[in-house]
Amino acid sequence: MHVVVLGGGYAGLVTTRRLERRLPSDVRLTLVNESPDHVLKHELHRVIRRPAMANAIRLSLPAVTDRARIHVATVESLDRAGRIVECSTGPIEYDYCVCCLGTATDYHGMASVRDRAVPLASSADALAIRSGYREALESAGSVRLVVGGAGLSGVQVAGELAALARAWDASDRTTVTLLERASTVAPGFPPRFAAAIREALDASGVRVEPETTVVGADDGAVETADGRSVPFDQLVWTGGIRGTDAQRGTRPTVGPALQLDRFTFGCGDAVRVEDATGDRVPASAQSARQTARTAAENVDRLVRHDRSSTAPPAAVDLDEFEWAAPGWAVSVGDDAVAIVGSRVVTGRPARIAKAAAGARHLAAVGAGRTAFELARTELASGPADCP
Ligand SMILES: Cc1cc2nc3c(=O)[nH]c(=O)nc-3n(C[C@H](O)[C@H](O)[C@H](O)COP(=O)(O)OP(=O)(O)OC[C@H]3O[C@@H](n4cnc5c(N)ncnc54)[C@H](O)[C@@H]3O)c2cc1C
Repeated sequence: MHVVVLGGGYAGLVTTRRLERRLPSDVRLTLVNESPDHVLKHELHRVIRRPAMANAIRLSLPAVTDRARIHVATVESLDRAGRIVECSTGPIEYDYCVCCLGTATDYHGMASVRDRAVPLASSADALAIRSGYREALESAGSVRLVVGGAGLSGVQVAGELAALARAWDASDRTTVTLLERASTVAPGFPPRFAAAIREALDASGVRVEPETTVVGADDGAVETADGRSVPFDQLVWTGGIRGTDAQRGTRPTVGPALQLDRFTFGCGDAVRVEDATGDRVPASAQSARQTARTAAENVDRLVRHDRSSTAPPAAVDLDEFEWAAPGWAVSVGDDAVAIVGSRVVTGRPARIAKAAAGARHLAAVGAGRTAFELARTELASGPADCP
């Protein structure tokens, strides 16, 4: 039997590690990822200000897995009817597959924005944002940085750019503007959390423009739906996610058992999840980790059923995912905002909550030392970090 996990992000790595422990030892397990590394995507914005963090947020997949074969390749498509994964290295057949390919940046069909903006999907993107800002500072008297989209990534990017401006002693020559279509930053998150993020952004000097829908861009300005033109020297786009090309841009919906079909599961941001209570689960690192546990459990149950029983598939009792909304924590430069229990906190307690979220994930995937380093770096601050 062959179980294949696609994608080595939060969902894929947690799924793989669970299956390593649970599956019978003679079941083959393969993890396909486009690079040999697991990247803590939820910390990518930090690399803009602290390039050295690119290493702190990257783990070698072979170092944090055990019996799984790590297959480095790009998934090109998934033939569910034939149970075949088409990869850049050739086809891979499977008995069970868990699709955890995450997402790609969504420009909502705006080629003019795609061609002019830098997204934030990798450390290379973060370094490009940093160098673009530095070059703009060197060639112009003042620099206008515009970030499109104020979700979790956009608010943290804007906060990081404002902090970098301070670190480079360029605040008086830099404006950071954050555009958001919804009426608040962090739309979809608890209103008190969103309001506290807005306050932290205001305090850091970020200009927030809610209810501003981007409809296009030319070389020097973003066009908005209400006919305005917002000039930029550098444009960063964090305005949406879509399925990867391997999933033809879609994020199919799965129910609480996380099945795309009898033999194929989807978890993490690669799919839209409706949990056992009918709630829509937000795309996030936290939900990716949680859904992975259910997917691994269900694959294990089906594998054991298929090997040991002649009962029809309908007899298998599958686990149902129920989203346990955790606390949330985001950084805004050297400040942070977190929901701890029922309270919204800022300042050091929030920074600790933010550092702990990443460190907990690293510790859980067996990277205790990196967890310690990440927490130490996260809690450090000041110009010395931003040469
Ligand atoms: C700047 C930023 C800040 C964020 N902050 C937060 C936060 O504070 N809290 C929070 O909960 N979430 C946050 N998020 C969102 C969070 O990072 C995502 O929700 C999370 O990464 C989803 O996990 P995943 O495993 O589904 O996908 P990913 O982590 O994206 O993993 C997908 C994996 O699949 C691989 N892959 C993709 N396509 C292919 C292919 N075709 N072939 C082979 N491999 C492929 C990728 O290389 C990657 O390893 C943030 C995101 C960003 C960008």
